[in-house]
Amino acid sequence: LVVLDHVDKWFGDLHVLQDIELSIARGEVVVVIGPSGSGKSTLCRAINRLETIDKGSISLDGQPLPAEGKELAKLRAEVGMVFQSFNLFAHKTILENVTLGPMKVRGVKKADAEKRGMELLDRVGIAHQAQKYPAQLSGGQQQRVAIARALAMDPKVMLFDEPTSALDPEMIKEVLDVMVDLAKQGMTMVVVTHEMGFARTAADRVVFMADGAIVEENTPEEFFTNPQSDRAKDFLGKIL
Ligand code: ATP
Ligand code: MG
Repeated sequence: LVVLDHVDKWFGDLHVLQDIELSIARGEVVVVIGPSGSGKSTLCRAINRLETIDKGSISLDGQPLPAEGKELAKLRAEVGMVFQSFNLFAHKTILENVTLGPMKVRGVKKADAEKRGMELLDRVGIAHQAQKYPAQLSGGQQQRVAIARALAMDPKVMLFDEPTSALDPEMIKEVLDVMVDLAKQGMTMVVVTHEMGFARTAADRVVFMADGAIVEENTPEEFFTNPQSDRAKDFLGKIL
C-alpha cells in the first residue's frame, strides 16, 4: 500500500533519511522505534508529504505522492496523521473538529458528516462530549478525538507519531486501546512509539531506525528477544 523506494533526505549536511526501503502492506501494522533524532518523525512526515524528499520515491496505492494542489489535499486526507500534540481546533466543538475535514475536503453534507462523526466519537468513547470544546477534555480524550478526526476522512493508512508521549500514564492505555482496536479492524498503520507493550501486542513488524537508516526490521517476537545489531541491543538495553 505504501512503498518507499531508496528514499534519501538531507537537512543541510544532516542525512536524516538514508536510503530508506520500506514497503507496508494493506492492513499491516508497522511500529517504528529508535533513538531520538534517528529520523522517525521525518519518515512519517515524508509519507504524507509534510516533508519533501531529495532522492527516491514514495507511493501510496501505486501512485507517486502528488507535489501540490488538489491532489496533495486529497493525499493528506488519505493519510491520517496523529501527532504527539493533539492539534485540535480550539474554537470548534469536538463534533465540529471531526466533521470539518469531510465537509471541506470531501464535500460531505453536514448532516451526513455529523452522523458519521458521532459514530466515530462513539467508537473512541467520546460521543457524550461531542458538544464540548477541546480544552474541556483531558489529554487522553483529546487524543482520541484526534484519532476520530483522522478516521473521518476514511484514510487508507494512519500514521501515529508518538501519540501517547504527551499523556499522563493513566491516559495512555485508553489511547492505546483505541489503536489496538483499529489495528484489529484491519487499518494499515505506521506507529512511532516508545510503548513496547503496544509494539509486542499490535505490531506485525518492528522497524528499528538509527541515524536516519533502517538498521533492522523483524517481527516483534524476534526483534525483542533476539535483536541482531549492536545498535538495537544497546537501545533495547536502555528502554526495557
Ligand atoms: P525523536 O525521537 O526525538 O522524536 P526522531 O527520530 O523523530 O526523534 P526526527 O524528528 O525525524 O527524529 O529528526 C531527525 C533529525 O533531523 C534530528 O537530528 C533533527 O534535529 C533533524 N531535524 C528535524 N527536523 C528538522 C528541520 N526542519 N530542519 C533541520 N533539521 C531537522
Ligand atoms: Mg520524533
